[in-house]
Order: sequence, then C-alpha cells, then structure tokens
Amino acid sequence: MPQVVCYPPDVLPALDPVALEAARAARTKVVEVLVPPREARAFEVPAGRFFRIVSVEGPQVGDLNLHHAHDLTERFFSGKTRALHGTHLSTGDRMWSTLPHLRSLATVTDDTLDWYGYDADGGGVHDVIGTRCDPYTQHLLGGDHYHHCCHSNLTRALAEHAGRPERDVELLVHDVLNVFMCTGFTLDTHQYFMKASPVRPGDHLEFVADVDLVGVLSACPGGDCGDEHSSDVAACHPLLVEVFDGPPPEGWTPSERSAYEWPA
Ligand SMILES: [Zn+2]
Repeated sequence: MPQVVCYPPDVLPALDPVALEAARAARTKVVEVLVPPREARAFEVPAGRFFRIVSVEGPQVGDLNLHHAHDLTERFFSGKTRALHGTHLSTGDRMWSTLPHLRSLATVTDDTLDWYGYDADGGGVHDVIGTRCDPYTQHLLGGDHYHHCCHSNLTRALAEHAGRPERDVELLVHDVLNVFMCTGFTLDTHQYFMKASPVRPGDHLEFVADVDLVGVLSACPGGDCGDEHSSDVAACHPLLVEVFDGPPPEGWTPSERSAYEWPA
C-alpha cells in the first residue's frame, strides 16, 4: 500500500533567504547567556528577533524548551512538530506550540549541521523524538538519585526566571528540541538511540522568534551524548545563547493563535 504523509506542511509560508540575509546584516547582538555544563539558563527573545545557540569549547548537546513569554503554559509541542516536519529539525522548520494555540513559536533560519543529513543508521541531528533526560527514568532504570538531568536543570532555571517554586513550574517543563544531538531509532527494534554529536565549537543553530519568547536551555550532562547521560561521567561543555536586536526579516509577521472555532 502507498505511504501517505499525514501532515504535509507544504502549504505553510516559508521565509525568504534573501530577506533573512538582509536582516542578519542589520542586526546587533544585545545579549549573551552562557549556559554552564550540567546546568540550564533562561533567556528572553522579543518577537521578530533572531537568536542562536552556539557550540563553544567542545562538543555539547542542548535541551531546549520554549514558552510564550506572556503565558508560560503555551509551550513547545514536540509531538505535533515531529508530525509536521519529521524526526529532526533543520532550516525552514518551525517549533509549534501546544493546543489550543498551535502557532509557530520560532522558525529555524540557519543550521551549520545541515550537511549531516541522515546517516546509514538513520541518525540525524536536532531531534524531536527524544524527551529530555530526567531523574525519574534514571531512578527507574538505575536506582540512583541524579539531580542534574536536563528535566531538573530546566525546572530550576524556569523557576528562577518566573520567581516561582520549582514544584510549581515542573509541570510546565516539556519535551525538548535536542539541539546538536545525534539520534535515531534502531533499524531492527526501533528503539531510541544516540551517538556522539558531530557538533564542534563555532557550529550554531539560528532561529527567528515568532512570538515573544522565554527560552530555557540545558547543557545536557551527557556532553556530546556519545556514551552515557544522567551522570557526571561524560565530558561537558558550556553552550552560548546569543540574542540579537534589529528589524525582523522582510515578510515576517507575528505568529497568530489558531483561528479554529469550536461549534457553538
Ligand atoms: Zn539531557
């Protein structure tokens, strides 16, 4: 039987590369946030502005959460993004928000790891198929209490940003974009696998914010995620978040909440 793509995204508008380049030329970097290894930090990006996640010092994977700045409960919807754009994101793909909003929170505008594509094992970079390393699964499988999983780091950083207790904001932490991580499903058993990330210092993933954003980025305790995660064993490095000021790309418009209406 023929395969039918469930959600062909071809009808969605694309950003013009010439407009993107012109906007890059007119922008100024205004904020740098250095995310320490095995920690997370929050940052804000106004709608229409660029931000980048940059590899510095050594190969490192980042777990990214995005929230609408004016309603933290509207957050990145990994599952629907996967259904629309595939298992791994790259230039032109969007990070969609949870129902009932379902709007683009950010658009990927540049990816220096585009060249990787998909390898012979089916592995690719920047996945939306994993969740985030978390202490509950670690305890389930390992019996230990590790406190610097990405879930824990994201919770602490969001709590600090929002000025609320960690227990309050933990339910707002959500499945991530695994920035720079190289992952796939094994060809025989279809299990989630990881392998050492090809990211090197100087590589970046760039976005335009489509709404006012709060981002939270964790420098995963797995480092390049070539061996183990959820421990202090792997070599870990910081990640740099850069936020730019300047005019939005020509043709860019703020992302609107879904216009779907329930029956009266
Ligand atoms: Zn992690």
